[in-house]
Amino acid sequence: MELFYTSTRNNEASVTASQAILKGLADDGGLFVPWQIPKLAVSGEQLAGMSYQEVAYEVMRLFFTDFTEEELKGCIERAYDGKFDTEQIAPLVKADGAYYLELFHGATIAFKDMALSILPHLMITSARKNQVENEIVILTATSGDTGKAALAGFADVEGTRIIVFYPKDGVSPIQQKQMVTQQGDNTLVVGIHGNFDQAQTAVKGMFSDPELSAELLAGGYQFSSANSINIGRLVPQIAYYVYAYAQLKAQGAMGEGQPMNVVVPTGNFGNILAACYAKQMGIPIRKLICASNENKVLYDFFRTGVYDRNREFVLTSSPSMDILISSNLERLIYQIAGRDDQANGQLMQELADTGRYEITPAMQKELEEFYGNYASEAETGETIRRIYETEGYVMDTHTAVAATVYQKYKKDTNDDTVTVIASTASPYKFTRSVMEAIGGECRDKTDFELVDELERLSGVKVPRAIEEIRTAPVRHKTVCQVEEMPGVVREFLKL
Ligand SMILES: *Cc1c(COP(=O)(O)O)cnc(C)c1O
Repeated sequence: MELFYTSTRNNEASVTASQAILKGLADDGGLFVPWQIPKLAVSGEQLAGMSYQEVAYEVMRLFFTDFTEEELKGCIERAYDGKFDTEQIAPLVKADGAYYLELFHGATIAFKDMALSILPHLMITSARKNQVENEIVILTATSGDTGKAALAGFADVEGTRIIVFYPKDGVSPIQQKQMVTQQGDNTLVVGIHGNFDQAQTAVKGMFSDPELSAELLAGGYQFSSANSINIGRLVPQIAYYVYAYAQLKAQGAMGEGQPMNVVVPTGNFGNILAACYAKQMGIPIRKLICASNENKVLYDFFRTGVYDRNREFVLTSSPSMDILISSNLERLIYQIAGRDDQANGQLMQELADTGRYEITPAMQKELEEFYGNYASEAETGETIRRIYETEGYVMDTHTAVAATVYQKYKKDTNDDTVTVIASTASPYKFTRSVMEAIGGECRDKTDFELVDELERLSGVKVPRAIEEIRTAPVRHKTVCQVEEMPGVVREFLKL
């Protein structure tokens, strides 16, 4: 049966999966959602015997129904291959009374690789299906992590180019080195004199510039975006929750008919929404535990039914969760409003106008499967130290936010259901914060010195992604002013 996608702001809209992937965002500004969440067609026992790639296929074939088996398996094989440093792709590791689902074994050692390693392949397959002859140009502004994961995903993928702008003085030394050493003839990385918001605004400006669009078309190009609201990023993320369940089954950790809990360190709400969709597909999940850092908009939302971004923005040691507008939450709001596009559209308009909205008591009742809480900076560091000292297991700051919130959940509820914690980054990605938590004074040491020290303490080998950039040559030296960004794009594409 073919599954179509509609917009969270217009139920009349209807596109195929491949069209939704190509467009990213609906014309009315809404997000694409499937008409219904399909049910898994395989049993727990069958899942338990499957590889990551096989599980991914079982999930994605139900959502991307206009892809042929051959196309979809091709995308999966090219995405989840030797770029990952373990054949399991997403191993499940037991520590401190929970199961850590390690989503950081890909090219850039953070969980965004799970989706961004397959998105380019889904996109060019979608382009072919829809008779798009143009080369796809991915244009992105990044504050660090997404840019590198997108670069790694799109590098040398035929039929695509990728241009990434980052604030020259706004990313960590390791993040900068990761980006400027990027290989691939179809990649361009540019530092700008300005901050992330200025880069982001300029990129949005280019997307909506009719003159530039015409020049692109004449040159045989069209822009697309790789951001986290694309259904081509969301659906691949469902697969690892199904895989985690399969692994628990295979390890005999779950009794017959027993559910599991899932804890997710949350920013844009994409990762935890994927877990919610896994539940709707039939995976027995009891609680969806949403962990925030000190930017705790979501904690307040789950507690009060009021979403309010009017507050101070806190810079924390878990920067990928420093977010005040969680874009993917819109898909949940639409769902709990009973798929009411008008009601959802109105709330989103209020958010745009006033930075705040309040859901109805009936909608709030639909949120009972969620639990929200947050971790302070001190609690986060303390969790990293405690679990390192008691278990010898070292986790990154984002994962530690989740582990902290899980402790609070257990204390609040006494629920001892088997629990999976999404581990979203390698500790080597945020070495300085991790070493400050477990090793103390770091001020006089370089990031690479800290990397070596972390290896000694943790006994976990330095990942290839870090080793490579130590010695890799710098390939991208372009730096420009914000106003010069369109010119840089024209030059790279020879327009
Ligand atoms: C992006 C990111 C998150 C937040 O995920 P969302 O899907 O945006 O909620 C958490 N941890 C890390 C390391 C990330 O890169």
